[in-house]
Amino acid sequence: MQLAFDPADMLDPAGVGAVGEDGHPSPPQRLSPSGAATFDQCPRRWRFRYVDRLPDPPGADALVGTFAHRVLEHLMQQHPSRRNKDDARRIARASWPEMSGSDDYRDLELDEEQARKFRWRAWRAIEGLWDLEDPAGVDVRATEQQVSVTLDGVPFRGVVDRVESEPDGLVISDYKSGRAPTARYAPGRLQQVLLYAAAVAEETGERPVRARLLYLGQKIVATGVTPVELGGAVEQLKSTWDAIGDACHTDDFSARPGPLCDYCPYAELCPEGQAERTRRSELRAAEEENLLKLAG
Ligand code: SF4
Repeated sequence: MQLAFDPADMLDPAGVGAVGEDGHPSPPQRLSPSGAATFDQCPRRWRFRYVDRLPDPPGADALVGTFAHRVLEHLMQQHPSRRNKDDARRIARASWPEMSGSDDYRDLELDEEQARKFRWRAWRAIEGLWDLEDPAGVDVRATEQQVSVTLDGVPFRGVVDRVESEPDGLVISDYKSGRAPTARYAPGRLQQVLLYAAAVAEETGERPVRARLLYLGQKIVATGVTPVELGGAVEQLKSTWDAIGDACHTDDFSARPGPLCDYCPYAELCPEGQAERTRRSELRAAEEENLLKLAG
């Protein structure tokens, strides 16, 4: 499982965690949503990625999302009359050489059948926008808008997929190509777009009225943007920022083993992660054995 695609990390990944003279990492200069999510998921993983700068190559799922984002960004910059599937196909064809020639895509080493499946998945994600809305009816104010603001003392940086105007005000939208969350996990996922809403409010003086995650081909997960919602998101960001500062100061980045260790690129370097992987694989084997016994 990949963490969400976050163009803010691609803009300036060096903004975080160089090692200071005492050998401890110096605190980051700014925080992106994916940097915050990585630390919340596992501080050790954050250190590997942002301090040690070890590669965290995007897998096929993340690259499908990257490609779909790119195509939808260009599509929504077109005149509304040209936001149709034919134009989306044309943009996808024109954008494909850049993706297929990238190191990240080459590193996947897909065979012909896998490459065909990759393109099909990417197109399904792009086409999935029409399951959610009529793109021609969207009043786009900005796409891929970079925001760089200070939120409750935290230097925050992000890239907002889309800002649009609706009759009652601004709406923040973010495309997602992964699986939509159940109601239980939706509030956590909305944290990212609420932070974007806070950043847009800070930069423009206009508080958006809604923030939405567009799970392509599935559903829209949305929330109203109230001062209470914004306050909660910024408070969480501040708490993560403070925890990162403390971890850098003490150079103590605890491992937080869990299901995501199975997808962590640093598991080989992490004894706790390896133990967790072994434990989970033994658990799965025992469950399979039980099922076989029950079936027999
Ligand atoms: S393997 Fe697990 S515990 Fe170790 S760094 Fe990765 S996510 Fe954290």
